[in-house]
Amino acid sequence: MHAPADSFDPVLDPGPFQSFPLHYGGQWQAGRGAVPRKVLRPATGSPGWSVAEASAEDVEAACAAAATSVAGWTALDTDERGRLLRGLAGILRERMPELAEFEAAVTGRPIREMRAQMGRIPEWFEYFAGIALGLEGGSNRVKGGFLTYTRYRPHGVCALLTPWNHPILILVKKMAAALAAGNTVVVKPSELAPVTSLLLAQWAVEAGIPAGVINVVTGGPETGAALVANTHVAHIDLTGGTTTGKIVARAAAERMVPCTLELGGKTPILVFDSAELDEAVAGALFAGFVAAGQTCVSGSRFLVQRGVYEAFVQKLAGRVAALRQGDPAQAETDIGPVISAASRDRCMGYFERARASGARLVAGGVLPELPAHLVGGFFVPPTVFADVPPDHEMFRDEIFGPVVSVTAFDTEDEAVRLANAGPYALGASVWTRDILLAHRVVDRLKAGVVWINDHHKNDPRSIWGGSGESGYGHENGWDALKGYLIKGSVTVRTTDSFGDWFAGGSRYG
Ligand code: NAD
Repeated sequence: MHAPADSFDPVLDPGPFQSFPLHYGGQWQAGRGAVPRKVLRPATGSPGWSVAEASAEDVEAACAAAATSVAGWTALDTDERGRLLRGLAGILRERMPELAEFEAAVTGRPIREMRAQMGRIPEWFEYFAGIALGLEGGSNRVKGGFLTYTRYRPHGVCALLTPWNHPILILVKKMAAALAAGNTVVVKPSELAPVTSLLLAQWAVEAGIPAGVINVVTGGPETGAALVANTHVAHIDLTGGTTTGKIVARAAAERMVPCTLELGGKTPILVFDSAELDEAVAGALFAGFVAAGQTCVSGSRFLVQRGVYEAFVQKLAGRVAALRQGDPAQAETDIGPVISAASRDRCMGYFERARASGARLVAGGVLPELPAHLVGGFFVPPTVFADVPPDHEMFRDEIFGPVVSVTAFDTEDEAVRLANAGPYALGASVWTRDILLAHRVVDRLKAGVVWINDHHKNDPRSIWGGSGESGYGHENGWDALKGYLIKGSVTVRTTDSFGDWFAGGSRYG
C-alpha cells in the first residue's frame, strides 16, 4: 500500500470546499493521479469538491487490497459478516441527516427526495445480512451410492461501477449483496458524484469491516476501464448508460468475467380510461419529474387512452406548472437542476427540436426566475409536449431530464404496442382501476420492473433489472445475492468400494 493520506478528516457538511483523497486498503490514500478532478455543484455550477484521480497504479493497488482481504472475509461466518453490515447500517442511520444533505448537494436533487431515499438505505444492508443466513442448497442421493450437494462460493473481487443519479442507493444495492455473499469490492463511482461513496468507505472502517473489503477508486471512464480490465476482478456490476454497458460487456467477455448490467430505459406510463384520473396525473408527475427525470425508470412516455386524454393533458400541465424549481437544499423545492451543463444542453436540444417540429408544448419551456446564487446552475424547466408521434425522437430516446411526451391511444393492443416499441425493457407503470385489464396488459409488457397504480417503488425484496438494451442480471432479492455467488456441486462417495476403472471396475451405474 502506498501514500496514505493520514491527515484527511472529512467534514460531514456539504458546504465547505473539500479535497478528497482515494480510499482503499482501509485508509485514505493520496493517490498517484496527476491532477485532482473538480466536482461541480449542479445547483450553482461552481466547484464543490476536488477528488483525487486514481492512476493505473492506484487501481492495481486497490484491486490487490481487495484480493488480499478476500480469504479472511469469506472465511468469516455469514452471521459475523452480517453483524458488521448491520453495524454499518447503524452508522448510516445515525448520520442520515448529514448524508442526505451531502447527497442533495452532490446530485442537485431536492433535500426532500434525498431524505426519503437515504432513510431507506440501511435496509439493504440489513436485508442481505439476513437472507444470506438463509441461503440453502439441496442434496440428493444419486446412483451408485453417491451423495451430491450444492455449494456456493463468492466470486472474489467484484468491481462496482456506479452512476451519479443515486450515488449511495445504487452503490449500497450492489455492495450489500456482494459483501453479504463473501466478496470484497472495488468501487468506481461516477466522476460527477463521487464523494459520498468515499465517505461510505470510511464509515465501513469505523463499523469494523476489515481493511481491503471495501475500496474506492475515483476517476472517469479510463479509471473504470482499468478496473474492468484488472485481472483480480472476477465479477463486474455496472449501472450506467447502454453505450457504457456494451463497452464493459465486451471487456468482461474478453476475460470471461460474468457481469450484471443495469442500463438505460425509456419507461412508458400507460393511463387507461378506467384510471382514477387525478391519481394517475399525480403518479405520472411523480414518475416523470422526481429526480428531475434522471432515473433509469423515469416515466418519459405518457401513453393515455383517448377518453381521458385531453383531461389528462390539461391536469398534468397544471401540476407541472405548479412545480417549485430551485435550490435543492430548501425543503420546499420540488425540482432541482440536472447533473451537468452537458445534460442541460442535451435536454434543451430535445426541447428546441421538439418545438421546431411543431410538437404541442403544454407546460414548461421557461425557467422560473432563480435566485442570484443559482444562475450558474444546470436548470432545465420541467416540460411536457403532447400529441408526440411514436416516430419522434422524444418518444424513442432516453432524454434523462424533466422533458416528457404524451401520446394518445385507442385500444389495449395499441397501448401494448406503443409501450413495447424500442430497444429498452426496464420499467413501466399501468394506471387503471380495472384489475382484469391491469394484469392482462402487464402480462404483455416488455419490462423488468412494473408497477400497477404507482411508480418508482423500490425495496430490497423486489427484483430490479431489465432486458434488451436495458441490460441483464438483477439487483434486489435472492437473485441479487445468488448473482454474487458461484453455484456448484459436491459429489461424495458413500460406498466402501471404489470402482477402479483401469482395473476393470465400473464407473457407471
Ligand atoms: P455512464 O454510463 O456515463 O457511467 C456509469 C459509470 O461507468 C460511471 O462510473 C462511469 O465513469 C463509468 N464508465 C463510463 N465509461 C466507462 C468505460 N468505458 N469503461 C468503464 N467504466 C466506464 O452513466 P451515467 O451518466 O453515470 O448514468 C446515467 C445512465 O445510467 C442512464 O443511462 C441511466 O438509465 C442508467 N441507469 C440505470 C439504472 C438501472 O437500474 N438500470 C439505474 C440508474 C441509472
